[in-house]
Amino acid sequence: MTVSLPELEPVPATDCDVCAALCSQREEARAVGNSRMVRDWNDELRNHPHRRSGDWK
Ligand SMILES: [Zn+2]
Repeated sequence: MTVSLPELEPVPATDCDVCAALCSQREEARAVGNSRMVRDWNDELRNHPHRRSGDWK
């Protein structure tokens, strides 16, 4: 049984393709029930560096 507190998940930055990709990978991992992978992708998302929107391509 898995009772865990709902983890706060990082929100992908708008206009960031990388974040969008990471986010969809995360949802794929979630869809197959791979919660460890979900956490990994969340880490990636959290660690994705962002400057002001617009000056990061
Ligand atoms: Zn990003």
